[in-house]
Amino acid sequence: MSVQTRRPRPHYDVVVRGGGTAGAIAGIAAARTGAKTLLIEQYGNLGGVLTLGMSLKGVHDVEGRKALGGIGAELIESARAEDGATAVASHPRHGSIMGQDGEAMKLKLIAMTRAAGLDLLLHTFLVDAALEGTAIRHVRVAHKGGLESISASCFVDCTGDADLAARAGATFIHGREGVRIAACLNAIKVPALRLAELIGQFLFTRRTIAQIDKPPPINPSQRQLRPCHDQLELCYG
Ligand SMILES: Cc1cc2nc3c(=O)[nH]c(=O)nc-3n(C[C@H](O)[C@H](O)[C@H](O)COP(=O)(O)OP(=O)(O)OC[C@H]3O[C@@H](n4cnc5c(N)ncnc54)[C@H](O)[C@@H]3O)c2cc1C
Repeated sequence: MSVQTRRPRPHYDVVVRGGGTAGAIAGIAAARTGAKTLLIEQYGNLGGVLTLGMSLKGVHDVEGRKALGGIGAELIESARAEDGATAVASHPRHGSIMGQDGEAMKLKLIAMTRAAGLDLLLHTFLVDAALEGTAIRHVRVAHKGGLESISASCFVDCTGDADLAARAGATFIHGREGVRIAACLNAIKVPALRLAELIGQFLFTRRTIAQIDKPPPINPSQRQLRPCHDQLELCYG
């Protein structure tokens, strides 16, 4: 029986863990300086939260000034040139709002990483990190090929959850004081305080949403609260 041997991987100048919004762009930036760069992502595409297909806010500030530059702006402009993003409309609270096509973002990011010449390792999850003193020397990852050690002079943690920092033994906190979830994905405008109260009620009493039987009376300014009950049910039910 023949055994397929993996091509030995080189020592990298930079390894970026997590190919989301931050990691993909950090990887492209590093590779463009000429650093031998590897980008490792657990899923089969790049872009993270940016590719969920929701609106993107804050490209301009509330005074209409450009707030996003560099590779992020380059990405959006090149996606827009191919109908992958809408024009930027001004928004009183967020400065601006823009629609983007998540699939276009994924394709653009892959094309940009290719053009920058960085190596990509998709479908690959972090297992462990080995330190020399306080510096990470190599990481162990898992993928279809099994377990692999990858060494680099510099590691960048863009996992969104500080997975690499945690594996390297850094101290961390989970969530914020009193808040146990990062976000509720819904497109319904709800007064933020009210939503937080509702989520808190759900988390701390451990009752189901259906058992939060008495939704507070809806006054005109909270008209959109009721649909949020349904949304919460979808998120956590
Ligand atoms: C619902 C929602 C709406 C938002 N809207 C806006 C907005 O309009 N404007 C704005 O500026 N910001 C917005 N943000 C915030 C913005 O999306 C985030 O700040 C940004 O995406 C963070 O980027 P990131 O790369 O750190 O994380 P992510 O985009 O989450 O990327 C993390 C990546 O790391 C990968 N990963 C995680 N763990 C591992 C592991 N162990 N091994 C390998 N890979 C791993 C993940 O698969 C993912 O691809 C929004 C956030 C949310 C949740």
